Amino acid sequence: MPKIFVSQRIPGSALERLKKAEFEVDVSPIEGIMSSDELLSSLKAKPYDGLLSLLTNTIDKSVFDACPTLKIVSNYAVGFNNIDLDEAKKRGIVVANTPGQSISDSVAEHTFALMLALMRRVAEGDRYMREGKYKGWDPELLLGEDLRGKTLGILGAGRIGEQVIKMAVRGFDMTAVYYDVVRHKNLEEEYKAMFVETPEELLKMADVVTIHVPLLPTTKHLINAERLKMMKSGAYLINTSRGPVVDEKALYDALKNNQIRGAALDVFEFEPNPVSGLDRLSNIILTPHIASATFIVREEMSQMAVENLIDFFAGRDVKRKVV
Ligand code: NAD
Repeated sequence: MPKIFVSQRIPGSALERLKKAEFEVDVSPIEGIMSSDELLSSLKAKPYDGLLSLLTNTIDKSVFDACPTLKIVSNYAVGFNNIDLDEAKKRGIVVANTPGQSISDSVAEHTFALMLALMRRVAEGDRYMREGKYKGWDPELLLGEDLRGKTLGILGAGRIGEQVIKMAVRGFDMTAVYYDVVRHKNLEEEYKAMFVETPEELLKMADVVTIHVPLLPTTKHLINAERLKMMKSGAYLINTSRGPVVDEKALYDALKNNQIRGAALDVFEFEPNPVSGLDRLSNIILTPHIASATFIVREEMSQMAVENLIDFFAGRDVKRKVV
């Protein structure tokens, strides 16, 4: 009977499936995110075979040392930057994640929710109403920008980036230009997306830049002060990937000095806190890492995280294996 530790309660019925399959399942006794110390002491309590972790848990050498019987980590997330993959590989521990079509679609939708809220000033308008400032229709009130006809720059055209390109071109009549370390010719054929060889080229062309790269040493601060200066003065930046991909202090300076028009962030460099002052700017929209937070997606993520464990212990291929 494989013993599984789940580092935080997850939505839906998937854990019941594990129990029915005769796994021994222990869920964190703590409400919310476990600290590293809490996770380590829980893992030392039993010889666990599997860990179902969240992106808020740092899974490194100390975790593997605390639980030498660990064979698989199933991460309830698409990103896996919270896991030391080299260390896992060295120890023969399998790491799997939870990507899928629904999650890509939902993150892409949230990207557009942010884009529309920012460019059509929805959040500002909402604040304006609640503050009792609306005194009657005014042709000059809260003018924004249309999406149609604009050039959208996509940094990272993988699963989510592709959905964003599809929605932009098919739904909003935008033109897409993308930068990726891998060229995706199908996107060029299907959506007339233009490939550029450097992020700099993209930043100079795009009216809106949206980030969909994984967090890696090569993508940390992909958007920094120097690159923000290359963006058009009326451009917008959207980040739903991982916070440290953007140098957030540099973004704060660029927004404060009206170097770019606006930004929307779902993820933060020092999550959960935005850098000081960011939440007082009117030209930014902030959401609390909810780009994939829909009922359907969360249930699917739970099922995928559990399926990774069931397949592994049944000796089957783990479809979403990262290492
Ligand atoms: P993916 O692996 O399908 O696509 C990532 C793309 O980025 C790939 O095409 C890859 O070639 C490209 N890439 C890698 N390094 C690059 C670099 N240095 N420069 C340019 N391109 C580079 O991943 P995905 O499913 O599209 O997800 C992307 C990221 O979105 C995830 O890694 C995760 O961090 C984030 N995410 C966030 C949320 C959220 O709730 N906000 C939800 C899901 C995923």
